[in-house]
Amino acid sequence: MLTEKESACKNTTTAKMKNVAEKEEISPEYIRKQIEVGKVVIVCGAGRKESVAIGKGLRTKVNASIGTSSDIVDKDMEVEKAKIAEKYGADTLMELSISGDFDEIRREVLKAVKIPVGSVPLYQAAIESISKFGAIVKMDDDFLFETIEKQCDDGIGFMAIHCGVNRLTLDRLRNQGYRYGGLVSRGGAFMTAWMVQNKRENPLYERFDDLLKILKKYDTVLSLGNGMRAGAISDSTDRAQIQELIINAELAQKAKSEGVQVMVEGPGHIPIDEIEANVILQKRMTDEAPFYMLGPIVTDVSAGYDHIAATVGASLSSAYGADFICYVTPAEHLSLPFPEDVKEGVIAAKIAAHIGDMVKLKKRDMDLNVATARRDLNWEKQFKFFIEPEKGRKIRKKHFPKDKDTCTMCGKYCALKIANAFFTECKPGK
Ligand code: SF4
Repeated sequence: MLTEKESACKNTTTAKMKNVAEKEEISPEYIRKQIEVGKVVIVCGAGRKESVAIGKGLRTKVNASIGTSSDIVDKDMEVEKAKIAEKYGADTLMELSISGDFDEIRREVLKAVKIPVGSVPLYQAAIESISKFGAIVKMDDDFLFETIEKQCDDGIGFMAIHCGVNRLTLDRLRNQGYRYGGLVSRGGAFMTAWMVQNKRENPLYERFDDLLKILKKYDTVLSLGNGMRAGAISDSTDRAQIQELIINAELAQKAKSEGVQVMVEGPGHIPIDEIEANVILQKRMTDEAPFYMLGPIVTDVSAGYDHIAATVGASLSSAYGADFICYVTPAEHLSLPFPEDVKEGVIAAKIAAHIGDMVKLKKRDMDLNVATARRDLNWEKQFKFFIEPEKGRKIRKKHFPKDKDTCTMCGKYCALKIANAFFTECKPGK
C-alpha cells in the first residue's frame, strides 16, 4: 500500500486527503500538493479511521500528552485523560507511558478515542530493557526496532523519534561547555546515556533506513524529536539545539525522498523574542516540513501556571507559522497531570492555537460572532462561539444579575445597554 506521500507524488488524491480537505474547508488538490512537497502530513494510524492534517495553510492543531509515570500507574485514569482530551478538542493524543503494561495501556487508549494517537517508542524499549537486558543502557537495537514496529502495527499514527541526537550533536553539547537546565527530553536523555555508556552512534540515526522502512509500511508519520531542547530559558536556541536541528533537517529530507511523511519538533523553553527566529530557521532548514512546537514555555518561573506561559508561547509560535502545538498542563514541572489538568491544558492550547490562526490564517469569524452577540447582550449566542462554554456559563450562573440582559460587573449601568439605547450605530443587528 502506498503512503499518503507516495500517492500525492503519483498525483493521486486519496480518500483521506478528501476527508481532511472537507474538515479544513480547503480543496483536496491543495492538500495533495502540500503533501507531495512535504509541507503537510496526514496523521491517522494503521487500521484507524480518523485522520488529521497538519501543516502549511491549515488550522493549528493541538496535541495532548498523557501516560503513566513510575510513581503513578493507573490505566483507567489514563483512559479517562484520553477521553477528556478528546472531549475538549485535542486533535491528537500522545500516549507516553513509562510504567505498567505498556502494550495494554496503549491498546486501551487507542480503543478509547477516535483521534490519532502518537508515541515515543524509545520509552517502552528503554524501560523494558531493564527487565529484559538488565539496564536502559543495555537496550538492544533490534529490540528497539521491534518495539517501533509493534506500536505501528497497533495503530500509532505518529512517533517522536530522537534520531538527531547523534555523535555530532553530543560533541556540540560537550564543546559548548554548559547547560544551565540540563537535558529535559526524556528520549534525548535515554539516548544520550545509551550512546555515552556504549560508546556507539545512535541506532536510530545509524539505521535510519531501517526506521524508514517500518514507518513507510504503516504510513506512520515520523516526528523528528528535539532531544536537545532547552529546559531553561538560559539554554534556548543554543548550539546543541541548532546542531540537532541541522541533523533533523537532513533526515527530514531523506524521509520525504523515501515517501515517509515527516514533521520536525521545536522548543521547549524559549523567551518570546526568539520564537520568530526559531520558526523561520526551522521552516527554512526543513523546506517547510510541518513544525511541531512543544509548548513552548516562555519563562521558567510560572510553575503551577505553566499552561498560561505556554499559551503565550504557543500563540506566538502559531502566528509565526508553527503548525502543531503540544499542550502544557498546570501540573508541568510539578507532577503527573491528572484529568482536570488535562482539561485545563487542552483548553489553554486550543485558545493559543486560535489566537495564532487569527494572524496566520486571518480566521476571525468566531471573534466577530462573539463580538456582535456581546454587543447585542445575546448571552446564548456568545456561549455558542466560545472555545469552551462550560466555564463561562458556570461563572455567569453563579452570580446571576438582577437585569438578565446584563451581568453583575456593571449591572444597571451596563455600558453596552446604554449605548444600544442611545447610539443607533451600536444597535443590535448592525
Ligand atoms: S454589565 Fe458591563 S461587563 Fe457586563 S455585559 Fe454589560 S458592559 Fe459588559
